[in-house]
Amino acid sequence: MIVALAGGVGAARMLRGLVAVVPPETITAVVNTGDDTVMHGLHISPDLDTVTYTLAGMINPETGWGLRDETWSAMAELRAYSEGRLAWFNLGDRDLGTHLYRTSRLSEGASLSEVTHEIARRWSVGVRLRPMSDQRVETRVVIDDGAPEGREIGFQEYFVGHHHDVAVRAVRFAGVESAPAAPGVLGAIASAERIIICPSNPIVSIGPILATGAIGDAVRARRLDTVAVSPIIAGQALKGPADRMLTELGHEASVVGVARMWAPYAATLVIDEADAGRAREVEEAGMAAVVTPTVMTGPRESAALGGVVLGAA
Ligand code: GDP
Ligand code: CA
Repeated sequence: MIVALAGGVGAARMLRGLVAVVPPETITAVVNTGDDTVMHGLHISPDLDTVTYTLAGMINPETGWGLRDETWSAMAELRAYSEGRLAWFNLGDRDLGTHLYRTSRLSEGASLSEVTHEIARRWSVGVRLRPMSDQRVETRVVIDDGAPEGREIGFQEYFVGHHHDVAVRAVRFAGVESAPAAPGVLGAIASAERIIICPSNPIVSIGPILATGAIGDAVRARRLDTVAVSPIIAGQALKGPADRMLTELGHEASVVGVARMWAPYAATLVIDEADAGRAREVEEAGMAAVVTPTVMTGPRESAALGGVVLGAA
């Protein structure tokens, strides 16, 4: 069995590559839920949905999130009612079905693990998807807004509301102290042949997973069998604020900075050919470096990287 620690888009592409190499049923993805939010009374799990829709072949290729062939009637109504005020977070009509279902099942008393499994089954996703925790953990971001102490806001307000176009001073995961790992997560990590830290935002996608319950300790105990893939290529994120966020929070936005973060958790770091010149520094930071193309532009590139990741370590 293989365990993948997963955020959103980068992880979804990685998982699509892994299922091309090994049977989906042999993979468990432990997915970040720090980005989860309640919008219009609906429980939204952005990273779980990105992974689910991507593996189902249903992800919207234009946006990278939500469903393909989507319509937006509900949002248009909401925008009209509220003069735009309530419509800053886009939810497509079909996608709303997922959020309605998740919210209904949670209010019936089902756990997020159960609902996640049901949603994955509806889309015939063979990979076992598990939220990192069934309990609420909320990623909160302190942004620089002129005030001396900054201002703390929710992750989606930062990411979508501010288009992540504002400096970050600190990040915390509210509720993480008392949140246990979801059922099955620690056992999967303990018994996996290989653990993969997907190329996701280290701070706000992988960070919350490792901070939840005993997950970080469980991964550290499997360090030799854990392989990370760098989400930073030539000093930059392919998309999103990972590079800026690393710098703002005192890390180096490079494969070396990523190696310093993941060295306690993983023995091997897969880095892009563009970073071949820094392989030695990665090794000095305590990780074996594997150099290969890591930009997953399509299924073929994902599969090739999947093969390398499973062969590494
Ligand atoms: P989210 O969709 O915003 O939750 O995104 P993630 O947490 O998955 O992280 C975004 C990170 O994934 C960015 O730093 C990207 O550089 C990285 N990423 C996305 N696609 C790829 C890819 O094909 N290869 C690599 N190496 N990193 C990727
Ligand atoms: Ca995310």
